[in-house]
Amino acid sequence: MKARAEKIPVGVLGATGAVGQRLVRMLADHPWFALRALAASDRSAGRPYAEATRWYLDEPLPDAARDLPVVPCEPAAMDVELVFSGLDAGVAGEIEERFAEAGMDVLTNARNHRMDADVPLIIPEVNADHLDLVDVQRARRGWTGSIVANANCSTIGLALALRPLQLTFGIQGVTVATLQALSGAGYPGVASLDVTDNVIPFVGGEEEKIQSETLKILGRLSGEAVEPESFPVSALVHRVPVRDGHLLAISVKLAERASPEDAVRAFEEFRGPEPVPGLPTSPARPIVVRSEPDRPQPRRDRMEGEGMSVVVGRVRPCPVLDLKFSALVHNTIRGAAGAAIQNAELLVAVRSGIQRSTVSLTTQGRAAPSAGP
Ligand code: NAP
Repeated sequence: MKARAEKIPVGVLGATGAVGQRLVRMLADHPWFALRALAASDRSAGRPYAEATRWYLDEPLPDAARDLPVVPCEPAAMDVELVFSGLDAGVAGEIEERFAEAGMDVLTNARNHRMDADVPLIIPEVNADHLDLVDVQRARRGWTGSIVANANCSTIGLALALRPLQLTFGIQGVTVATLQALSGAGYPGVASLDVTDNVIPFVGGEEEKIQSETLKILGRLSGEAVEPESFPVSALVHRVPVRDGHLLAISVKLAERASPEDAVRAFEEFRGPEPVPGLPTSPARPIVVRSEPDRPQPRRDRMEGEGMSVVVGRVRPCPVLDLKFSALVHNTIRGAAGAAIQNAELLVAVRSGIQRSTVSLTTQGRAAPSAGP
């Protein structure tokens, strides 16, 4: 895809947190976006970013951000066109609305607006066409900006892995057990005395989010609303002492019979609609299949596709449903910061008039190409 003549000025809300730091890192040398403003709570505002944030990534804090002053989360304090939100859900809802009302596009990681009927919940390779909801949202709310959400980190890994199966064979039911990394709980997150030498079979609200968000993402845009998919999804979540990378153990009931080899082919051939494969943050392969019997593993596989590929392995028959497999998603990259940045790239590409061929589902749940907007 061609480079743009001028970079778009962008800011980060919640820039000091776990997702905020990933956003800062990924935006520092972005080909389309120029990082101009960083915002967080009153605890951090007024200090240079390097001082206000407790940098936890292994990669160095980028020079472009080091001396930027942290400002309060007020639209007037940020002279940018687009903001990425890594805000705590306790405050994200109203703050993000204020920015959209003030004319900025808000690409959010927070849960507050994900299930609003007029807010697109996007994984570009899966449901780029749902972005049309932005026009519905603006008309309904009288905003000149918008809110575009990405899903919960586990949901992104699950929905992306399910999409090729949905398109090729149809899906009738899903169970997923997650093993979720510590960075998914933000910084400082889970107390070390709780999680060392331990597994915690509870992450508040997570099972419900996985069950509802997956069906919205895999649903079909019909007129001014998304008709969610209707198959049952059952999630069982666990927090494990891994730093980054959520591992999912998935079983699926399919509408059509498929062998593990058929499923592997569907995973490997999956790319997503134009212009998604050419976006700067899109990985060459959204789903990478490992054939070794003991992969994917968080420590070894989470940086596949610079953290943007979902890594699938152990595809085999399931004696209860039809097929089962493991999938790994880097929770703060594909599951959060990278997801929001890729969504912003899609928004910009679509607004720039780059032709988009969408994919819609027929009533049988199979893929049928349809004309782009
Ligand atoms: P986090 O590490 O706790 O960071 C929260 C951020 O929100 C910090 O920058 C904090 O600023 C800011 N904040 C808190 N209270 C505020 C207030 N009253 N006004 C303005 N800013 C305030 O959380 P996180 O893990 O990065 O998660 C951020 C969001 O992304 C959450 O909604 C989370 O559910 C979602 N998410 C997280 C992941 C993940 O893997 N971590 C994945 C997907 C989605 P201060 O430093 O100044 O307090």
